[in-house]
Amino acid sequence: DDHERKEVWANIKDALFNEHIDQFRAEFLEMHPYDQARIFEDLDADVRMQIYTYLSPEEVADVMEHIDYEEIEPFFSEMDPRFAAQVFAEMSADDAVDIFNELDKDKVASFLTIMDDEAADEIKDLLHYEEKTAGSIMTTEFVVVRAGMTIKEAMVHLRTEAPDAETIYYTYVIDEDKRLVGVISLRDLIISEEDWLISDVMNERVVSVSVGEDQEEVARMVRDYDFLALPVVDFQDHLLGIITVDDIMDVMEEEASDDYSKLAAISDVDSPDDNAFA
Ligand code: ATP
Ligand code: MG
Repeated sequence: DDHERKEVWANIKDALFNEHIDQFRAEFLEMHPYDQARIFEDLDADVRMQIYTYLSPEEVADVMEHIDYEEIEPFFSEMDPRFAAQVFAEMSADDAVDIFNELDKDKVASFLTIMDDEAADEIKDLLHYEEKTAGSIMTTEFVVVRAGMTIKEAMVHLRTEAPDAETIYYTYVIDEDKRLVGVISLRDLIISEEDWLISDVMNERVVSVSVGEDQEEVARMVRDYDFLALPVVDFQDHLLGIITVDDIMDVMEEEASDDYSKLAAISDVDSPDDNAFA
């Protein structure tokens, strides 16, 4: 509640003022990253710069994922470039790409050179896709297994991949050529016997979208099929990425406001400010 929030706020300010790193971390990391991001927006740049030295790149990445990417530029500019590159590397690749699309080209190039190769390559690949296509909103952090694995082997694999995966709810099955041949939900994995084969339990009729598909169509499919994520494939059915339902919610919001702007233009009405319907 409000009283509790004020108390947390006071403790955080106190910790920052007295440079009590442990106290700051204990209070700050207790909060959801969404609430952490609201605090970040309220603070002065010099206080935020102090905070960057108290948090790991991964912890800052969690905060940055909850700041509107159109307003995020100043945050990355005030960070030490090396630290900023590490933060980008820790972010979900699709979120990093959204931000990169807002920054100027020189800045993007310099971040990509400092960043570790694996993270940079992942982001570079995603930067190539045209705006508002499935490719532009997908992420490459998905979990795959092979049809010939046992359930036990698949679970062991899933456990090692889980920390970096965008979702672990669906595991996709690919063949030797990386073609998408099946899907299995976490529920299905958990209720299966350890010595069964993935091929016995996987769903072979996989609904997928092609990488060039319009994001509005992708949103419609997620809504109609009720999946938490959809796989994205190229024209030869190679699995390239996944789109999760949280990204779809952003698309729906974006498309709704695009439609509204068009409508407003047609009827020759001034665009309302953001709060007009609040
Ligand atoms: P259920 O609704 O059947 O109880 P669930 O709640 O565990 O299953 P859902 O998210 O509802 O999981 O997915 C239902 C089924 O759809 C799962 O068996 C899953 O393997 C399968 N599935 C997931 N993604 C796809 C996809 N892209 N194409 C086809 N099937 C899929
Ligand atoms: Mg279900």
